[in-house]
Amino acid sequence: MPDLDPVLQPVYEQVLRRNPAEAEFHQAVLEVLDSLGPVVRQHPEYVDARVIERICEPERQIIFRVPWLDDTGRVRINRAFRVEFSSVLGPYKGGLRFHPSVLLGTVKFLGFEQIFKNALTGLPIGGGKGGSDFDPKGRSDAEVMRFCQSLMTELYRHVGEYTDVPAGDIGVGQRELGYLFGQYKRITNRYESGVLTGKGLGWGGSQVRREATGYGTVIFVEEMLRTRDRGLDGAKVVVSGSGNVAIYAIEKVHQLGGTVVACSDSGGVVVDEEGVDVEILKQVKEVRRGRLTDYVQERGGVARHHSDISIWEVPCDVALPCATQNEMDEQGAQALVKGGCAAVAEGSNMPCTPAAVRVLTGAGVLFGPGKAANAGGVATSALEMQQNASRDSWTFEYTEERLAEIMRGIHERCAATAEEYGAPGNYVVGANASAFRQVADAMLAQGVV
Ligand code: GLU
Repeated sequence: MPDLDPVLQPVYEQVLRRNPAEAEFHQAVLEVLDSLGPVVRQHPEYVDARVIERICEPERQIIFRVPWLDDTGRVRINRAFRVEFSSVLGPYKGGLRFHPSVLLGTVKFLGFEQIFKNALTGLPIGGGKGGSDFDPKGRSDAEVMRFCQSLMTELYRHVGEYTDVPAGDIGVGQRELGYLFGQYKRITNRYESGVLTGKGLGWGGSQVRREATGYGTVIFVEEMLRTRDRGLDGAKVVVSGSGNVAIYAIEKVHQLGGTVVACSDSGGVVVDEEGVDVEILKQVKEVRRGRLTDYVQERGGVARHHSDISIWEVPCDVALPCATQNEMDEQGAQALVKGGCAAVAEGSNMPCTPAAVRVLTGAGVLFGPGKAANAGGVATSALEMQQNASRDSWTFEYTEERLAEIMRGIHERCAATAEEYGAPGNYVVGANASAFRQVADAMLAQGVV
């Protein structure tokens, strides 16, 4: 465990006591507190107003039962959560995750990260997150619809365009958002487009939202590389995962002249030295909801599937973890360093363990933390809210340029703050200190609420 500033240590201990057995939440809090020593020494007013304790305690936590009928008529029960963490900068904003591993602590870690990520976008959105232990894998469309309708039958009373605006995350894409939106509209009798983001293009969605997290991560890594007079052109890249974030990260790397030589899913790793064929990948994953073994078959002998290696063992110049939390441990990071990796940017939320981050930064690898590197998704959600509020819809080109501008802005802001605190090139310090200060100043201004 890192040595925390004496002012921050008791705050962390209180988080541990109040939230037992929520290891991922503890990890996310510790990662932020570890960057804040110099900030609280410079700003004793944050300590006096107990800003940090307040940030660590969600404003509201909602847990509810979601009953639904499967296709055989059997009753199923899931649990759902919405953790409304901070509304100091705007309505609570963050995705919903459907995955069997989802517990309250998972949603809290994601919601906590979201506060700072959303602040970094510079757009007026607070932090929240939700989800359920429902597993959409293998479920029919009708089952997914019944589940989503049941979930919204409770959730509708807590959300709204000025209150709390959910979106997708793992296991929640346009299909699920469509069912959720339909039920919200039916219950409330309001066509309130801004209540959810990530909607379909024909019913209030934004261009580039689908691509935004992956594209944004790649724009961020390109900016990091530029500080060392490098770029993605000609670079060998590995991207873990093969879901929404990974697919569009791969697409953008290829647009910028790099080659993605490996990706993965829970069944293993695909190595495709000629470059992952993103159109085939989209067909397999987005249209057919299939596995990477299907991708290998469609590639006709070019790609190879391995169920016994870690993706981080594939030598590369740049690595983009885009699957899930704690997917890269110390060993994974060591393998990357050995393979000559120069930059890592987190496309998923908290994919690198603290030990992995230490190995990477210790070896001089550029490291872009998720709350900065993957903020393009939620930033484009905020652009979707803007379009909904003005009953407008922007072109792909215009929206993509806005996204690129936001990502370059986040990079600039993190780099400048890192310098200011005597840690040049340390994007973890830059992201945490900069986002925290913005949130803390707004909290001071708004009083003890
Ligand atoms: N789930 C995404 C994230 O982790 C996006 C959230 C949103 O668009 O509200 O940032």
